[in-house]
Amino acid sequence: MKNPQEILKSVFGYDTFRPLQAEIIQNVLNKKDTLVIMPTGGGKSICYQIPALIFDGLTIVISPLISLMKDQVEQMKALGVPAIFLNSTLSPQEYFENVELVRQNKIKLLYLAPEALMTESVQSILQTQKIDCLTIDEAHCISEWGHDFRPEYRQILGVKNKFPKAVCIALTATATPRVREDIKKSLNLNSANEFLASFDRKNLKLQVVTKDNPSFQAVKFLEKHKDQSGIIYCFSRKQVEELTAILEANEFSVKPYHAGLSAEERTQNQEDFIRDNVQIIVATIAFGMGIDKPNVRFVLHFDLPKNIEGYYQEIGRGGRDGLKSDCLLLYSYGDVRKLKYFIDQKEPSERQIAEEHLQKMVSFAESGVCRRIPLMEYFGENYESENCGMCDNCLETDEGLEDFTVAAQKFFSCVKRTGEIFGAKHIAQVLRGSSAKNILKFDHQELSTYGIGVEFSEKQWLDFVNQFLKKGLILKDTDYGRLKLTEKSFLVLKGKEKFLGKLLESQKEKRVTQELELDYDTELFEQLRRKRKNLADGENVPPYVIFSDKALVEMATYFPQSKESMLAINGVGDAKLEKYGLKFLNEIFAYCQAKGIAEKSKNKITYKVSRGSSKVKRHFVVGEKFNAGKSVSELKKEFGVQESTIFSHLQKYLLDGNKIRKELGLEVIKLSKVPREKQIEALNLFNELGHELLRPIYEAMNEEISYEELKILRMYFLIRTAKF
Ligand code: ADP
Ligand code: ZN
Repeated sequence: MKNPQEILKSVFGYDTFRPLQAEIIQNVLNKKDTLVIMPTGGGKSICYQIPALIFDGLTIVISPLISLMKDQVEQMKALGVPAIFLNSTLSPQEYFENVELVRQNKIKLLYLAPEALMTESVQSILQTQKIDCLTIDEAHCISEWGHDFRPEYRQILGVKNKFPKAVCIALTATATPRVREDIKKSLNLNSANEFLASFDRKNLKLQVVTKDNPSFQAVKFLEKHKDQSGIIYCFSRKQVEELTAILEANEFSVKPYHAGLSAEERTQNQEDFIRDNVQIIVATIAFGMGIDKPNVRFVLHFDLPKNIEGYYQEIGRGGRDGLKSDCLLLYSYGDVRKLKYFIDQKEPSERQIAEEHLQKMVSFAESGVCRRIPLMEYFGENYESENCGMCDNCLETDEGLEDFTVAAQKFFSCVKRTGEIFGAKHIAQVLRGSSAKNILKFDHQELSTYGIGVEFSEKQWLDFVNQFLKKGLILKDTDYGRLKLTEKSFLVLKGKEKFLGKLLESQKEKRVTQELELDYDTELFEQLRRKRKNLADGENVPPYVIFSDKALVEMATYFPQSKESMLAINGVGDAKLEKYGLKFLNEIFAYCQAKGIAEKSKNKITYKVSRGSSKVKRHFVVGEKFNAGKSVSELKKEFGVQESTIFSHLQKYLLDGNKIRKELGLEVIKLSKVPREKQIEALNLFNELGHELLRPIYEAMNEEISYEELKILRMYFLIRTAKF
C-alpha cells in the first residue's frame, strides 16, 4: 500500500503537505471521524482525496454545487484519479455508464449532490458497494446559521447511519463557533477529531487606500496587473454596469456578473473567466460561490464590504494556488454612511448585529497596525508576528515622513473650538476659510481657526485625518463621522508630542515596495500559458486543470529539460507528466536552445527586486555612500533620519545582493542584545535554513528571539557572508 507522502508526490506532484493535511489524512485513515475547518485555498480537497486513493472501497463526496463538482472531477481525471459524479446534468446514457463504473469497482471517488444521495436509485447502488469514507464538503450548508443553508444537507445523517463502517469527514471554510457546533450536532460528529487551521492567508497582500477617484484608482491598479485574472467587487448592480463600461472603454478584458443578468449570461461570463477567455469580472457579492479558480491574482473592493466575514471570503478567492494575490480595498466614509442607511431599514433586532459588524469592518479599514491583527482577531485567532510583510501598514516605512505637527495642532484646535461635533470635511472647510452654507450657518467664519489652513487642499486635510485616525490621534463616530479629540491629540496640541506624516500629493503613485518573488522568464511564461490555453480548449477544460500558474512560473524559472526535472515542478505528478509533460518540455527546450539558456536546479532560488520606478532608490544611495567610507552616524545626519532607518536602508541594499564594507558588521552586532550563544545559534540557523524568511528561524529558536533581534542578526549574517 502506498503511503500519503508518496501519493502527494506521484499523483499531485507536491513535495510537502500544507499545515494539518498530514494529520487529517492520518486521522481519516485510522477511521476516526474528522471535522476540518480550513480557509479557502488551504488545501482541503487533498485531505479526503488521498485517503480515497488508499482505501480499497469507495469514497463518497457530497458537494452542494454542480459546477464545483464538475470542476473537481475534471481535475481528478487530469491527475489520473478515477473519479466521477452522478447528477441531473448527465444524459441518461452517461448516467448509466457512470453507474456501471461504480458497480465494477473502477471508481475511487464518487461525487454526489445531496439530493442525488437521497434518491432510491443511488441508495440501491450504494448498498452493493463497500463504502470506506463519506465526505461532506462545504459542511456549513447544514447549518441555518451559515451563509448558504441547504435543507437537503439535513438528511445526510440518515445516510451516514446506514454506513456505519464508513469514516466521516466534514470540511468547511466557515469558522464561526455556532456553525461548527451545528455541523457536529447535525452529523452526530460529537466524538470527531477537530482540525482548525489558521485563517491567515499569507499570500494575500492586503491594502486599504482612501477612495477619492475610484475609477481612476481602479484603472491604475489594473494596469499593474496586466494579463492577470482578477475580481472587482462592487456594492450594486448599477455600479457593476458602470464600472464594466469604463473598463471596457479602457480596453480591459472584462465581463459583469450580478443577479440582474439572465442565468445564461451569468454562467457564460463565469465560464469565460474560469477559462481565461476574460481576465476580469466585475461583480456584486453574488459572484464566487461556485468557482474554484486557483489563479486569481487580484481582488479589488471598489466599495466597502458590509462585514469582515464577507470581505474575508471575497479576498479569499484570490491566490488559491499559493502565489501572491493583491487585495486592495478602496475606502471612503461615504460608503460607511451608505451601508448605515441600509442597516437603518432593517428590523431593530437585526440592526444591532449589522451595526457591530460594520463597525468592525470600519476599524479594520482605519487600522494603523498590521491588517492581519484585526482580521485574525475577528476569527478568534491571535496574530503574533510583528511584521507580516504583506500588508500596507507593515510595508510602510518611516521613509519620507515629515513633521506636520503644526498642521495637526491647527486641525485639533479647530475640532475643539467647534465643539467636537463636526466631521472632517467641515473642519477642513473652516481651516480653508470656506464660505459654504454650513460654515456660515454656525458662524464658524468668526472662529480664530477660520482660514488658518489654506496651505493645504481639502483633500490633503482629509488625508491627514486618515493619518490621525490610524495613529489614534483622533476618534470618529460611525453615525455621523463626528471627530473627537483623544489624550494623544492633547499631547500634540501642547507641543509634547510630534505628528509625523505624509502630505498627499495629487494622484501620486504609491511607493513601490520591494517584493520578493521568483525571478521568472516572462516571455517563456507567456508562451507556456498560450500552450496551456490551446490544450485546455482542445480538451474543453479550464486551463488550470492542465497546470497551475505556479507550475508555469516554476517552469519559466528553472527551465526543466528532462522528465526528472519536470517532476520536481510544483503540481507535476506522474499522470500529468505522461499527458502533457513532453509537450511542455519541447516548448521549453526550443526556447532555451534559441536563447542559450541552461536548466537551473530547483534548490537555488533567486530573488529580484521589482522595479516600479526609474528613480534611484534611497537604499541604493545610502549603500553606495557607506561603501565610499561614510559612517552610519554621518549618514544619519546627512539624510536627517534615525539610525534604524539607515540600518534598514543598508539591509535592503544587502538583500538586493550588493556587497558592503565589513566594518558595518561591528556596528550591527553592537545593536544585538541577546546572549552570545543565542547569536551563534541564530547565525548557524541562517546558514542552514537560508536568510530569506525569518519565520523558520524564529520557530527553530522556540520563538525566544524577537523578529527585531533576528533582523539585526540576519544583517550581521549577510555582511559576514557577502563575498568580496
Ligand atoms: P480548498 O478546498 O481548501 O479551498 P483546495 O483543496 O482547492 O483548497 O486547494 C487549493 C490549491 O492548493 C489547489 O490548487 C491544490 O492543488 C493546492 N494544494 C493543496 N495541497 C497542496 C500542497 N500540499 N502543496 C501544494 N499545493 C497544494
Ligand atoms: Zn501586516
